[in-house]
Amino acid sequence: MTVHYRLAVHDVHAHLYRVTLRVDAVRGVQGFSLPVWIPGSYMVREFSRHLSMLEAWQGTRRLPLTQIDKATWEVRPRQSGPVELRYFVYAFDTSVRAAFLDDRRGFFNGTSLLLRVAGREDEPQQLDIHDLPRDWQVATALRSVRSRTAGAHSYEATDYHELVDHPVELGAFWRGRFEARGVPHEFVVAGALPSFDGERLLADTRAICEAQIDFWHPRRAARARAAASKPPFDRYVFMLNAVDEGYGGLEHRASTALIASRRDLPRRSRPGARWAGGDAYVTLLGLISHEYFHTWNVKRLRPAELAGIDYTRENYTQLLWFFEGFTSYYDDLLLRRAGLIDDKTYLRLVGKTIGGVLATPGRGVQSVAQSSFDAWVKYYRSDENTPNATVSYYTKGALVALALDLTLRSEGHGSLDAVMRELWARSSGGPISEADIAAALERVGRRSFAGDLAAWVHGTGDLPLRGLLERAGLTWKTEPGTLAQRLGLRVTEGALTGVQVKNVLRGSLAEKAGLAAGDELLAAEGWRLRRLDDLQSWMVADHPMQLLVARDQRIVTLRLPMAPMPGDAGGITLAAGEKASAAQQRLQRAWLAA
Ligand SMILES: [Zn+2]
Repeated sequence: MTVHYRLAVHDVHAHLYRVTLRVDAVRGVQGFSLPVWIPGSYMVREFSRHLSMLEAWQGTRRLPLTQIDKATWEVRPRQSGPVELRYFVYAFDTSVRAAFLDDRRGFFNGTSLLLRVAGREDEPQQLDIHDLPRDWQVATALRSVRSRTAGAHSYEATDYHELVDHPVELGAFWRGRFEARGVPHEFVVAGALPSFDGERLLADTRAICEAQIDFWHPRRAARARAAASKPPFDRYVFMLNAVDEGYGGLEHRASTALIASRRDLPRRSRPGARWAGGDAYVTLLGLISHEYFHTWNVKRLRPAELAGIDYTRENYTQLLWFFEGFTSYYDDLLLRRAGLIDDKTYLRLVGKTIGGVLATPGRGVQSVAQSSFDAWVKYYRSDENTPNATVSYYTKGALVALALDLTLRSEGHGSLDAVMRELWARSSGGPISEADIAAALERVGRRSFAGDLAAWVHGTGDLPLRGLLERAGLTWKTEPGTLAQRLGLRVTEGALTGVQVKNVLRGSLAEKAGLAAGDELLAAEGWRLRRLDDLQSWMVADHPMQLLVARDQRIVTLRLPMAPMPGDAGGITLAAGEKASAAQQRLQRAWLAA
């Protein structure tokens, strides 16, 4: 190996990893740098802020180091030959995007710990993990090799990109295995409660994996083209960190790192009884489904702009509405097709997504293509103005997928499933552009979708979803909004914080009254407020209401105008219509239970 990393658990209480990087055959000035971002999470995170005590050595002689920028160093060896870098990384980030170490658990992404050797990225890289506390195990999708030193765990990667695309979990975790369509899968869970039902999690995850492998590689096609229609990985690892509060995931080429509340994991119930699950478990299965779908859609099919990753800066693309949005569309749909949720639950999730987008004034300000491009400074850096200025490429992107799928199906020419497989086949699971997506839609749908893409992806008008869903035989019902929704206000309520304004929506009554994010609502019409809903008790039609608000220590009096409030701001309920025709029922079956 010409690039070799020795990673040691240095001090669990100080949260320090110690890294020794040895590079063979260095000639002249050699650069090293740490990524500023991790692919899949579109924000500059400056991982080098946790790197310290960097030293360079050649044999027994210390070499001078020059720091070039926030994350780049240069070494000038005295003679050609191997160079060794030694440094420490502080790791106490509980998210899936960085690195963590304490006395119970370790976790890391290579982007946080492993300096990139400039010009040597495409050479094979070796990683040895040393000094693990007793009883700790290692889980990763990295290729394991026989260790050269006792007690070490050794891995190899073809290049730096592969090395840092395999997160590593360390600790005394729960571990289970299953096969899906012949491919070995592993699931590790750290931090679970004693009542955790691992077998249930494995069974449900396996159903998701099989539905997705069948989606991308239909078994009819598999017989015809055996090699081309196998999953693009030999082995897959789910690593879930169960915590008190937390939710999220990050996709990788053959694994995913997940974080979820331990209360939402399946629990063993009395013998003979089956744990009922619930909404939070469906959300967790949706997360598992989402990250697994990314194994095809974003890790292999990927934006042409991200065909080669630049670790030193933002990597812009307008296509996250496709890679995140379409993945969000299929994550829940494939739970339905895997038989893990019923039609009613699935339609409730779709209605929730539609209602969420309709409640966001920013949908009229930003298109999903712009939202994708600006992810680095907007979606990932949300603030009190986010709902007014931005639209989520996840949720609206999922609805663009829904609109395209229903359009294709109702016109009788294929489905979005066929479009996804067409893209996969044509690009051989590689980089694609928006033109490729348009071309695949045209081939499957037998007409141009340029106008639809211009309006839905690059425009800010609402999607024609109601018409499309009704045409598919579903009923659309707009629910009355809560008081907060009708006032255009998002608040947090707590015994200590009182009623605190989080967001004031553009053009709303709350905005007209002069309410601002951070305000604490104290009283209305001279009466103490404990909950926002208390306001209703003092509301009289056509009569402006006096509000007492605390803002930066001052007490401010505001007048809330009593203009008519929108009565239908509360979300969308979808249901299978009882009067659906036979053709509509066939469409629904093909869509929901394909
Ligand atoms: Zn995603």
